[in-house]
Amino acid sequence: MKPVGINIVERTPCLLEPRKIQVTAQADRSLSDIVPILYLAIPRSQYAKAFGSVTFTLEGKLVAVYSSGRINLGCVLGEEIAVKLLEKLNALLDKAFEYYREHGSPDPQLLEARQRLNPIEIYKHLPKTNCKECGEQGCFPFAVKLANGEKTLQECTKIQQPKYSGDKNYLEKMLQPIKLEVNI
Ligand code: SF4
Repeated sequence: MKPVGINIVERTPCLLEPRKIQVTAQADRSLSDIVPILYLAIPRSQYAKAFGSVTFTLEGKLVAVYSSGRINLGCVLGEEIAVKLLEKLNALLDKAFEYYREHGSPDPQLLEARQRLNPIEIYKHLPKTNCKECGEQGCFPFAVKLANGEKTLQECTKIQQPKYSGDKNYLEKMLQPIKLEVNI
């Protein structure tokens, strides 16, 4: 299968920051098979099944990828930056298609479980000792920051202990169920 092609189809001024532009691009094929894969591979991404879209940040910029192949980039400072961002996205899409060819569509139950992952669900799987070794005031504030991507599971010292390995494995799997071997 040849690599995904992406073309910029529209540039409009950014409403909030007029110096910047918003870019719409179009992939040369449907992305419906890989939108769920991107959602499960990209930490803190948002999946909207009704719109067939996944939204995430790439290099600090908001990106929305639609099943139809449409791609929206948030406000960027010029087309050169948009092109670089799309090159990086291209590599990600190619990896996602590679994953799809090898593994097929993700299990719908995994998708649902990931969508349910919120600070309360994360908290249920933390040691709940409130030891503060992670630098937070307790396990719940840590769960909130973990959900927001401001903390990593490695920063919870307690969950590294063998007796918590079941919860640790569960959280690791839920936070990033798919790895695409590309820097995100
Ligand atoms: S290190 Fe882990 S167990 Fe201790 S407060 Fe932080 S999240 Fe809770």
